[in-house]
Amino acid sequence: MICVGYTLAVPSDLQLEQVLRNQFGLESFRTAQIDVIKSIVAGRDTLCVMPTGAGKSLCYQLPAVALGGLALVVSPLISLMRDQVRFLNSKGIAARMLASDQSPDERAEVMDELHRGFEGLLYVSPERFAAGGFLSQATKWKPKLLAVDEAHCVSQWGHDFRPDYSNLGIVRRALKNELGDVPVIALTATATREVRADISASLGLREPLVVVTGFDRPNLIYECRRTSTELEKMETLHKLLSAEPGSSIVYCATRKAVDETTEQLSRMFKKRQIDPYHAGMDPARRAASQRAFMDTPGAIAVATIAFGMGINKPDTRLVVHFNMPGTMENYYQEAGRAGRDTAPAKCVLLYSPRDMKIHEFFIGRIGTEKTRENSMPLPVETIELLKARATAKLELIERYAKSRVCRRQQILDYFGDRAKAEGCSCDVCRSGTGQEREESAPASPELTLLVKQLLSAVARVNGRFGVGTVADMLCANPTPNTERAKLDELSTWGLLKAQKPNRVMAMIYRLVEARLVEQFDPDQNARPRVRLSPLGVRVMRGEEAVWDELREILPSPVKIKIKGERAPRKRRTKKPA
Ligand code: ADP
Ligand code: MG
Repeated sequence: MICVGYTLAVPSDLQLEQVLRNQFGLESFRTAQIDVIKSIVAGRDTLCVMPTGAGKSLCYQLPAVALGGLALVVSPLISLMRDQVRFLNSKGIAARMLASDQSPDERAEVMDELHRGFEGLLYVSPERFAAGGFLSQATKWKPKLLAVDEAHCVSQWGHDFRPDYSNLGIVRRALKNELGDVPVIALTATATREVRADISASLGLREPLVVVTGFDRPNLIYECRRTSTELEKMETLHKLLSAEPGSSIVYCATRKAVDETTEQLSRMFKKRQIDPYHAGMDPARRAASQRAFMDTPGAIAVATIAFGMGINKPDTRLVVHFNMPGTMENYYQEAGRAGRDTAPAKCVLLYSPRDMKIHEFFIGRIGTEKTRENSMPLPVETIELLKARATAKLELIERYAKSRVCRRQQILDYFGDRAKAEGCSCDVCRSGTGQEREESAPASPELTLLVKQLLSAVARVNGRFGVGTVADMLCANPTPNTERAKLDELSTWGLLKAQKPNRVMAMIYRLVEARLVEQFDPDQNARPRVRLSPLGVRVMRGEEAVWDELREILPSPVKIKIKGERAPRKRRTKKPA
């Protein structure tokens, strides 16, 4: 452990626990918090990688209190700073902030306190250090600690690169020159190797203690569903929310989508509290939305990613992504707002071809917009690099959504967590379709319809017969079995009349291979009967999409004829949402 130039007496474990109880009103440290805190109070640089909600704030707030003096905290979002300052002050802990949205008077008052030797936490935005003179003043206040929250913002590999963060290395060097080695703590929920290395290098961390805690959230049930149209997506969302009366968050990619989705859901669920939340809303309305969500059991928040920073509703039971997120980091962070109480909660990612187009559009615009005050225009090479990395990250989340590998395991692997996802109940694990199948292009409406017809026929005979009788029923081919069981009275009778029973049997066998249909032999007479597998049930209900590899069951070149008025669905004629 390195404690060069650092002379304060190191608080003992007991003292740290007293601060936890007396100042923060908390019972005990969570996993790894104590390691991080002890490292900091002993003067060692520390990189703290913990998932959102794990309690990173305490890792710098408690050392700040324990060490006394001034602690500088860099944070990227004014709303986050404000929440933290309010929280600390409510606990009787001195905390101030300097942000661009304060009035000149407010800022002057804080500066005054600082000059008079303010002791406590000072939250500042990274841009502040770029402002003339601030850094040299800050070193005069002799901070005891520099904390960089959301430290992945320094990394061009991160999902949220902020050019102003890359100047923080200068702050670290200035503090070192003036004051010796003030410990630096960098905190983030993003743990990929590149990001970690970037953080260490940009902030000039010296042999930091790196603490990475588990990314496994065994109570989260991950699912991904591809829908071919926006209408189908809305139907799926409706089903998900109908099935889940608990608090839910629906994340949309754009403000417009938030407004439209809120409107549609409000019509569908008249009795539920449904509120939109995005950065384009008037602040008072936004705060009201947030309060309504926090205070109402079973509320639904429809939001862009602006929602959630600092929001903690532990009993959120469902988080639906209505659009493909841009990165795994974003996805994990947002989905992770479900089930903080450790009870089972669902995280469902819905995506359609249109989502990819939206992302491509956003990636194309990287570098064309000046998003923050005082932020400098980016050099062309940086823009190109950022675009390439954003594209790579988009491909990674696309792979997550499309591959048939345990979702929880994919997340653990992505974040470099070596744990094994045991006892997982994600959609892939539930379906038991093996670990290899990669989804291909979406199935055509014609194929989807045929598969669903076959599955409903199997469902109708309800485990009473085998493949042959199901085929006879679909082809309206009367046999003793069909007559005895009155199968001709079922709606599935003659559904595939134009086909030969042998052909239809082959189709059903294909569904058996695909594990949509199961054969079982209760009479032990080697004449197996058929029934739907759990995956088959979900596909029949439209909860899981049909995959294109099944297209070989489509009869060619003769088109199947469909009984009754049920025409193949022509969803494309409807206007996308
Ligand atoms: P992060 O920054 O890692 O996303 P936060 O610091 O915002 O997480 O903490 C999330 C929640 O966990 C907060 O409500 C905080 O009060 C709570 N928390 C943190 N540490 C503890 C602890 N040791 N015991 C109980 N609650 C804690
Ligand atoms: Mg945090």
